[in-house]
Amino acid sequence: MSYHVFMTTAAPRQASGGASAPGARHAVTLIAGDGIGPEVAQATKAILEAAGARIDWEDAVAGKEAFDKGIGNGVAPETLESLARTRVALKGPLETPVGHGGKSANVTLRKLFEMYGNIRPCKELPNVQGPFAGRGIDLIVVRENVEDVYAGIEHMQTPGVAQCLKLISQKGCEKIVRLTYELARAQGRKMVHTATKANIMKMTEGYLKRVAEQVSQEYPDIKSEHIIIDNCCHKLVMSPEKFDVIVSTNMNGDIVSDLTSGLVGGLGLAPSMNIGDDAIMFEAVHGTAPDIAGQDKANPTALLLAAVMMLRHFGMFDTAMAIEHALWVTLEGGTFTGDIALGRPAVGTKKFTETIMSNLGKTSAGLGTREYKPIKMPQVAKAPDLVKAAQRQDVGVDVFIESGLLPDAFGKAVEKATWGCALKLKNVSNRGVQVWPTAASAFDGVDHYGCRFFPAEPKAKVTDKQVTDLLTKLTTAGLRWMHIEKLIEIDGKPGFAKSQGES
Ligand code: NAP
Repeated sequence: MSYHVFMTTAAPRQASGGASAPGARHAVTLIAGDGIGPEVAQATKAILEAAGARIDWEDAVAGKEAFDKGIGNGVAPETLESLARTRVALKGPLETPVGHGGKSANVTLRKLFEMYGNIRPCKELPNVQGPFAGRGIDLIVVRENVEDVYAGIEHMQTPGVAQCLKLISQKGCEKIVRLTYELARAQGRKMVHTATKANIMKMTEGYLKRVAEQVSQEYPDIKSEHIIIDNCCHKLVMSPEKFDVIVSTNMNGDIVSDLTSGLVGGLGLAPSMNIGDDAIMFEAVHGTAPDIAGQDKANPTALLLAAVMMLRHFGMFDTAMAIEHALWVTLEGGTFTGDIALGRPAVGTKKFTETIMSNLGKTSAGLGTREYKPIKMPQVAKAPDLVKAAQRQDVGVDVFIESGLLPDAFGKAVEKATWGCALKLKNVSNRGVQVWPTAASAFDGVDHYGCRFFPAEPKAKVTDKQVTDLLTKLTTAGLRWMHIEKLIEIDGKPGFAKSQGES
């Protein structure tokens, strides 16, 4: 299959209110959030102002306050308007309602503004104790943020079998891979690992691998490697300092980025950015920590580091660096909030914030240097990306049927029911393992069979009429089908996986 490159490489547009003329001011939607949100947001804002960041804040409401006003998606309309205008938000954590059906306000914001990339840096901070202290960890996880099983397309197949669709698109893969390489370039990073489970899910996870192999050729200055996601986790724990940038699909990226946060001291220190073409949202990884809310105990570092990323996005590199140095000097000087004190004396949020502000202008020898540039955002076509194949043909159909029969009786029943159809039963599988006409292993199945049909006449064209005739015969015979999948060949290659044991 050829790769349709829908993003132009010429003069990429700087999306979402990015770097502009030196000295320019930037409007930012500030969502303080719930629980410890207002405390860490206030601290972050104070430090940015003390550092001279040229930001005009627009205070906005989302989360508990919005839910309490009866706003079902948890985001006030004025907040959406503000974000549509500023295109950049700094957001404190938002409480997700449990048990009364409200949507997550975080998910609402990410989805409404199609923030397709989640970027989570993970850098060791000075004097933060832990099993990996001293290893010099400085890596970034880039997670695709919109597709995969998190699209939430789930169906009960039978009363006892649930299904979730894992949708991975070429467009989604290209966007996230290009973003990753542009981010790597902007930060002078040397290595990108594409972490997938392509050895098992060859089409979906394999898509990211194939697109990365293609796109990486345009970035010869960066070393590229594919790594199986489980091996990636193993190596992250064995030698995390060897990683630079990791890109992954949504669920794998979610898991790996939490793992990497844990490597450098946990939630209070982990920033993140959700990036899309229309808006970018900077936030802490942690939640509202209700147990310590309002007690002057919260660590503002995660949100502060998210704000540092925001300043770099605006091109305020010197201010960003000054704040990072002040934070490092603070930690090197032994000022800690309770979560990272680990037996050492701790200060409250306010004192920690004041200390950082008083350290502005000082430099830490330990921080090191990195030359940051603005990320050149990939150009994204808004229209659905219609990927065309030179040749494409319907070659068969999988029909999924609910039955409590054992495989042999079931296979014979389906054969009998569809006798005389233009499409002929080739094999039956149960949870991806062939169970009829021959079985790959001892049967311990469920009431959810996949029946694969191909034309009785080899190589004949499959028509929709043949499929509907087949379904009618199955229904007439009392066989309850719950979904079908057309089997297609694209450019002569099968666009479907074989079951375990299928010839
Ligand atoms: P959490 O709020 O992240 O808190 C877990 C624990 O981590 C806290 O109890 C606290 O531990 C510690 N912690 C987290 N952030 C800290 C900080 N900045 N400073 C010091 N300690 C910190 O996770 P959760 O309890 O699972 O979630 C609570 C609520 O937050 C839920 O409604 C959830 O939906 C929401 N949430 C929102 C976001 C978001 O807005 N992006 C993300 C995650 C969760 P100690 O007990 O040791 O004090």
